[in-house]
Amino acid sequence: MQRQAGLFAMELWFTEKQTSSVGITCKVRRTLLEEHTGYQHMAVLETEQFGRMLVLDGMVQTTEADEFVYHEMIVHVAMNTHPRPRRVAVIGGGDGGTIREVLKHPSVEEAVLVEIDGRVVEAAREFLPSISRGLADPRVRIEIGDGVEHIRNAKEAYDVILIDSTEPVGAAVGLFSPEFYRDVCNALREDGLMVAQTESPFFNQELIRRTQAGIRASFPVTRLYLANIPTYPSGLWSFTVGSRRYDPLAVDPASIPPLDTRYYCPEIHHAAFRLPPFVRQLVGEAAAVGDGV
Ligand code: SAM
Repeated sequence: MQRQAGLFAMELWFTEKQTSSVGITCKVRRTLLEEHTGYQHMAVLETEQFGRMLVLDGMVQTTEADEFVYHEMIVHVAMNTHPRPRRVAVIGGGDGGTIREVLKHPSVEEAVLVEIDGRVVEAAREFLPSISRGLADPRVRIEIGDGVEHIRNAKEAYDVILIDSTEPVGAAVGLFSPEFYRDVCNALREDGLMVAQTESPFFNQELIRRTQAGIRASFPVTRLYLANIPTYPSGLWSFTVGSRRYDPLAVDPASIPPLDTRYYCPEIHHAAFRLPPFVRQLVGEAAAVGDGV
């Protein structure tokens, strides 16, 4: 067949290879930014389906369309489990979405963002204003540095620590280790709690087993919960609470204040801990998870 100029409009598509045999592909309207930051390859794409998308080392970090699920769910479960969280640390999370949700809680006096790559913060400020807008709040302190180091040197400093990390590659490897969870426990006040994003129960089973064991080794209360995030591998995503005292399952739904949210709500606070049997088996929580719901 003879090719004829003008008959075909060129289309640009981005694929994240989520595993060696599965990927997610999105049609791209334009590339807003692409660079090597010194830590990682970074791109901001304008996609047709998901709006603007932040991609680090080829992996989707956040998109304008579905970021609310991840950011609300990493934040509000812990913030509504602690009776009065005043000092909060976010490790990673340079796009600012987690900080934006933290600031919805009026008890917060200081929110510290520890992001290793200052270019992620700058790019989010420039290209993702609806996600990063909380970073300008006077209660926010931004530290460009290694979250592992920051947490190692923080003693009983925080009520809540949120580990909003990239996948466990490169600088983020240390954010998934048992030693790090021990340091997180020591960086919390005696009734503090943490939440870590712990990846996909379909594609990252070994990592989930490992992180559950690591968190349990340091925290008396360990609970995994789920949310549906369309652009993350498999769509089903896990988070894990490590708590020194309070149990998220013991929270009275009536005590949860009204929040400006689109995914998290009092019913979801509890429903997110209702695990399908294959996930329950994965975390070895068959008995414990039913308690108190
Ligand atoms: N929501 C995202 C996800 O699950 O894909 C994570 C978003 S956020 C952009 C992750 C951030 O963690 C990145 O900007 C990365 O630079 C940062 N990060 C990775 N390792 C880090 C470390 N050791 N200390 C602080 N920040 C780190």
